[in-house]
Amino acid sequence: SRQFTRPLNDLANQFNTLLSAVAGAERVFEILDEETEERDEIDAEELKDVEGHISFQSVSFSYGKSENTVRNVSFRVSTGETIALVGPTGAGKTTLIQLLSRFYDPDNGSILVDGHDIQHVTRSSLRRHMGFVLQDSFLFQGTIIENIRYGRLDATDEEVMNAAKQANAHSFIMKLPNQYNTQLLQNGSGISQGQRQLLSIARAILADPIILILDEATSSIDTITEVKIQEALQQLMKGRTSIVIAHRLNTIQKANQILVLKDGAIIEKGSHSSLLLEKGFYYGLYNRQLEDTAN
Ligand code: ADP
Repeated sequence: SRQFTRPLNDLANQFNTLLSAVAGAERVFEILDEETEERDEIDAEELKDVEGHISFQSVSFSYGKSENTVRNVSFRVSTGETIALVGPTGAGKTTLIQLLSRFYDPDNGSILVDGHDIQHVTRSSLRRHMGFVLQDSFLFQGTIIENIRYGRLDATDEEVMNAAKQANAHSFIMKLPNQYNTQLLQNGSGISQGQRQLLSIARAILADPIILILDEATSSIDTITEVKIQEALQQLMKGRTSIVIAHRLNTIQKANQILVLKDGAIIEKGSHSSLLLEKGFYYGLYNRQLEDTAN
């Protein structure tokens, strides 16, 4: 039932369904654009070059008639900065991402990218500036090279390979029987979850978006792959505005700003060290995670 489905997973599934339904990946963007275009405002403008400043101004939102899922949320992120969203399951972290990428619109307040209210720009031009590295990567049935190239369809083989190298994915790919021509099954089964993440990082590097949206994996990944992922992510995040749904202590600590969410509202915000000094909710969360890591 709906209440148990995670929106971003829905999104991943939607992509995967489309990807397997069409012959070439080229068609996917067209189909997504066609589907969304009619919902854009008639006078919606193309969001052209952006620097990646994001601002939420008193944003509230509810799914249908239920209570507000997002309550009066305001924050700003500047170009090149990383903002981490932390808080318990159901706090509204994913919903904030859905609002930013306009799978839903706020009931109140506004969201600006470089000063443009995103409600007045086309969805496709907005999303063109965004890259997603999610827990469930959008991998489709096809070869590894096709899956990475999906980040930028006109990329040469060499560019794909360079992206894979930067993403720490090249070495595992070269060990596969058919290397870059290895066929992946739908959802990327056949390789490990950590390897799937490295492929989606390679794809994002190739796409080169100014805004990066990361949903860190929660399930356990072997330590060596985890180190590779963290390294690749640091590389990818350089010079981009990143919004991270953070589950890992190291990513959180490096963020310029941490928003602590509970029941749809920001209850604390600040840097890792300032939040620890507050000895509030974040302090408790952090200490519990430390204990979990030690055990
Ligand atoms: P988080 O990412 O912090 O775990 P979410 O943004 O996924 O939180 O969810 C916030 C709240 O909104 C939860 O109570 C969740 O059940 C509800 N919710 C999420 N998606 C939907 C949806 N599509 N329809 C109705 N309620 C939803």
